[in-house]
Amino acid sequence: MAEKSRFHVPEEVQRYFKHLDKWTFDPFAFNDVAGGHPLRYLGHELFTRYDLLAKFKITTATLDRFLLAVEEGYKRPCNRYHNEFHATDVTHSVHYFLSRVGLMRELDILANLTPEQYSDIRTLVVDMVLATDMSSHFEQLRAMKAALTVLGSQVEKSQALEFILHLADISNPAKDWELHRQWTSRIMEEFFCQGDRELEMGLPISPLCDRSVTCIPESQLGFIEFVVMPAFDVCSEMLDILLETKTSQAAAELGLEGHGGKERAWVGPLADNKRKWKEQCQSSAREAPAEGRSASNLSLASRSSVGVAEGETKKQSPRNSKAFLTPIISS
Ligand SMILES: [Zn+2]
Repeated sequence: MAEKSRFHVPEEVQRYFKHLDKWTFDPFAFNDVAGGHPLRYLGHELFTRYDLLAKFKITTATLDRFLLAVEEGYKRPCNRYHNEFHATDVTHSVHYFLSRVGLMRELDILANLTPEQYSDIRTLVVDMVLATDMSSHFEQLRAMKAALTVLGSQVEKSQALEFILHLADISNPAKDWELHRQWTSRIMEEFFCQGDRELEMGLPISPLCDRSVTCIPESQLGFIEFVVMPAFDVCSEMLDILLETKTSQAAAELGLEGHGGKERAWVGPLADNKRKWKEQCQSSAREAPAEGRSASNLSLASRSSVGVAEGETKKQSPRNSKAFLTPIISS
């Protein structure tokens, strides 16, 4: 455990961690206090909190090299959106969800890996990453709804984790307006930059990437209404089921009443952001009624405003990681 103290965390970074369990955590402000290494410091903090260093027998130095390499990988392409800020944001949002349902405790199973377990985890991680591909969004949503209604609490651990990562990946419209506004301007810059290059190369311009026709408020409004809101509704339902089952189980063991804990930090910001974009749509329609700008909601489904894994298609890797097929509730 002396290992832990070897990684120095600056005072201001330490202080900023009081926001870590809040939905309002600001990755941009955190980056400033973290001296341009948000992922590095967040990574160390979460690995320490979840006690992953001891569990996986990782040294602080190894973790540090790993985190720096990952961070560097995110910085190198100089993307405006898909960069170390987005990685920090998604990591934080996943932490938020996991800390709400105590899901991390369920992952004790990951410790002391046999080669077979290692390969199961690898499969899980690959599936989780592929699940962030927007082309699988509606299928994932449908599957989760089915698992919640038909099977009740029989949500697979891997399925819940995939869903949580996917939600974290598209969670910026569910954050406070000031954060969401920044993410929006970044993703649109990245998209338009791609569109400019496609134009230069004589290629067809991808959906939402043509700066001459894309209406930002309209595209965000569609994304919130048709993609993010329905997904967060299902997420609320999933958390309710996980929490209720958990608290009632724990309550039964302890002879106590369950407490529900139905805090839904994303509901307010989602409604607020949706209203703000709608207002902007209406005022831009008044200003330029003949311009005929459009952003098809259909294109949003395949080409969302966030979390697009370019050129990647979801490979249907079999969910054969036995260890993770146990109901998520089992403890
Ligand atoms: Zn992403």
